[in-house]
Amino acid sequence: MIQITLPLGFLGTVYREIRQALVDMGEMFDLLDQPAEISDRADARPLKVTGGEVVLDHVGFGYTAERPILRDVSLTIPAGHTLALVGSSGSGKSTIGRLLFRFYDVTAGAIRIDGQDLRDVTQDSLHDAIGVVPQDTVLFNDTIRYNIAYGRDGATEDEVIAAAKAAKIHDFVMSLPEGYDTTVGERGLKLSGGEKQRVGIARTLLKNPPILLLDEATSALDTQTERDIQDSLRAMGEGRTVITIAHRLSTIADADCIVVLQKGQIAEQGRHDELLAKGGRYAAMWAAQQAEDLD
Ligand code: ATP
Repeated sequence: MIQITLPLGFLGTVYREIRQALVDMGEMFDLLDQPAEISDRADARPLKVTGGEVVLDHVGFGYTAERPILRDVSLTIPAGHTLALVGSSGSGKSTIGRLLFRFYDVTAGAIRIDGQDLRDVTQDSLHDAIGVVPQDTVLFNDTIRYNIAYGRDGATEDEVIAAAKAAKIHDFVMSLPEGYDTTVGERGLKLSGGEKQRVGIARTLLKNPPILLLDEATSALDTQTERDIQDSLRAMGEGRTVITIAHRLSTIADADCIVVLQKGQIAEQGRHDELLAKGGRYAAMWAAQQAEDLD
């Protein structure tokens, strides 16, 4: 008996650990796709988030020495503010996300959160402070409850339900015959893109991080779903510092600051109205997207 249960129990633990590791990486897949060998300094301290101010101070970066990707990028996102990053494909938006998560170190300048250089803090504490809502939330082949509760160890049923309500997925869950016990994922109920994203939002709400990194979905959701998701994301952003990697300009018009990246440099920054009035690159992108939406 013991001979059978011990290995099985052990395998179960290993399985769970592998599965968690996979989902941690899977969740980052779009935004943070290539973890590099970054390790904590011997004297690294836990990050102390006092407000959640994020500063990029003359940041330079390249994945290889020959090809610079970001050049002299300086940005300040005051605590509790929302910054949207826009720019054409390959302009460096996701790279900024990866650097903030410290999947790579900057090659020039520094990134600081509440005055602390990311290279001086432990990676665990940094990752605890930042919630990532990726384009495509990875679901485990497990219950909806498990998929939401994964956001925080030891979350209670009440907390899971509160997060699901805030992410506007609770009513949908209750409409399923097995409710929160419904198995989802590859081998369970397939959720739509919008439903999956809401599970991801509920998960992140449970984690309750002071800083959010949102990688806006490029995949088309219907207008109502997109509006609902935007509402949930906006509600989640209240009182937090939010960095949104945006593909559709209509969703970020109310951001405190919009940064237009062009070939790894800041081409323009300001509020939506200011940038429109300027008649520059953002205004041109806006006009192009309006025309596309009319098609
Ligand atoms: P998109 O809107 O298409 O997602 P983006 O603005 O987010 O684009 P990034 O993903 O930041 O662009 O990529 C910026 C540049 O860095 C691109 O030219 C890309 O080819 C390059 N790049 C991205 N990841 C890597 C990597 N792991 N190794 C080498 N080059 C990379």
